[in-house]
Amino acid sequence: MVQLKQQTYTNYIKDRFGFAGEGHLTDFMVRHAGELLLGGHLNLNELARNHGAPLEVVYTPQISTQIERMYAWAAQARQESAYAGQFLYAYATKANFAADAVQTALDAGAHYETSAAADLIIAHSLFRQGLLPADRLICCNGSKEPNYLAAIRALRLDGCELVTPVLDDRAELEALLACPAPLQFGVRERAAGNRDGTHPGNDRFGLTDAEIELVAEQIANSPHQLVLYHAMIGSQVEDEAHFLATLRTSVAAYCRLRRRVPSLRYFNFGGGIPTSGYRLDFSFDYAGFLTRLMATISSTCAAYDVPMPDLIGEFGRYTVANHSVFLLEVGAVKRGQPGQPDWYLMNSSMMVTLPDALLVEGQEFVILPLSDWDRPAVPVRLAGRRTCDSDDVYPRPHRPPLMLPDAGAGLIVAVCGVGAYQQMIAGRGGAHHCLSPEPARVVVSAQQGQLTTRYVPQQDQAAIMRLLGYQPRPMPSERPLPLPVAASSRPLRITPVVVGAGGLARRRIHPRPLRLARQAAAGD
Ligand SMILES: *Cc1c(COP(=O)(O)O)cnc(C)c1O
Repeated sequence: MVQLKQQTYTNYIKDRFGFAGEGHLTDFMVRHAGELLLGGHLNLNELARNHGAPLEVVYTPQISTQIERMYAWAAQARQESAYAGQFLYAYATKANFAADAVQTALDAGAHYETSAAADLIIAHSLFRQGLLPADRLICCNGSKEPNYLAAIRALRLDGCELVTPVLDDRAELEALLACPAPLQFGVRERAAGNRDGTHPGNDRFGLTDAEIELVAEQIANSPHQLVLYHAMIGSQVEDEAHFLATLRTSVAAYCRLRRRVPSLRYFNFGGGIPTSGYRLDFSFDYAGFLTRLMATISSTCAAYDVPMPDLIGEFGRYTVANHSVFLLEVGAVKRGQPGQPDWYLMNSSMMVTLPDALLVEGQEFVILPLSDWDRPAVPVRLAGRRTCDSDDVYPRPHRPPLMLPDAGAGLIVAVCGVGAYQQMIAGRGGAHHCLSPEPARVVVSAQQGQLTTRYVPQQDQAAIMRLLGYQPRPMPSERPLPLPVAASSRPLRITPVVVGAGGLARRRIHPRPLRLARQAAAGD
């Protein structure tokens, strides 16, 4: 029997995705002279040669590009649909709170969207420093605990006029009505979240139509104003027709409310704009979507005889998913069981790198080899060898395997689309599963037109131990153990290697709770 020559990776990519081998592979990745360039500029092969793997690569100019592109598409859409309102791009900071990401988004002209008290406290600090300019809207979403409400009030009283609590519950209004400075409010439409019945988790946000009526009336009888209507339908919504059809109902609801509330001026569709970082065959017509959305709003407003609102989008994953990649190395290959693909054992953890692969049904990420495109493509599964966890695999067991060159150990892959949510969910800077250390990080950012690079070394063992409550000591240096004297009757004692941790557990951790317990017993 003639064994067919296996397809090269280059031919696999060409057949499967129509990519000729050089040029734009996605809207954030270019292949040039056989090497991968993030954002068309940053050479990932060179970074791997200089710093090795695993390595986190952060390229903030990609964030600016994402925002500038969207503003340009919106300008085009406004023109094509003769849309009279403005377009406002807000960055949903919960996708990535890293200072580099937030600052870059602000520099590119983004408004701000917060999800929690701590988030707003960061915004307040940026506002104080002048890094979050006073002309930027700050939309405060989510269910608001007292500290979130207090943070809203504090920011408003510090002079920020555009902080905009988007009411998620009637009680939030009760708490904020007494704010001595006039506030501009938003309302979040509850029906939008799960209109199609496929996003049950979204059903918990926002107000019913009847509740919106009540808060609109309360605000009308107060020194405050209702200015914004929020209707978010989901996340990574790639089906444009569905996106538009779902929003159409919310636009009509906006118009009905606008007839009674003349201060209303913003329609905010929230998140949902998809990123290209998850699939090589991704496509979404961003400009077309905005054009058709604006046309829909325009005609609906005409039908209700109300002015066109300013349009706001809150872009989370679209803003940041593509600005960072992980470079991970195949450390070893383990043959698959008969009929099963081989395991590429990665010198890292897939589940710490890509927690959404476990959390979000069907979540994928674009994974590209840095080299060996001329070698045969073979089906493989990736496993994180820095944990001992059967869930530390990618793709998930019920998904098809990944196609990669058969180069095996030493092959480095770029894991793309990881700049949104992954590090926030994994807990950046924390102690991770099986203590898998965070890889070194290279941050490339643009300052006054110049690219600057910062290198942060891999998280060290001592830092991880401190996070867990150990007080790490220097590891005992290697020194010859005293040889047992031949004539001695004393047994040879073997000192455990982790002297620091063992000693600590005995001497420091135990006495404390015991003392406390005794005090409590004494009624102290
Ligand atoms: C999470 C969130 C966003 C961002 O969603 P993406 O789909 O990542 O763009 C926007 N608005 C609100 C209210 C959110 O909760």
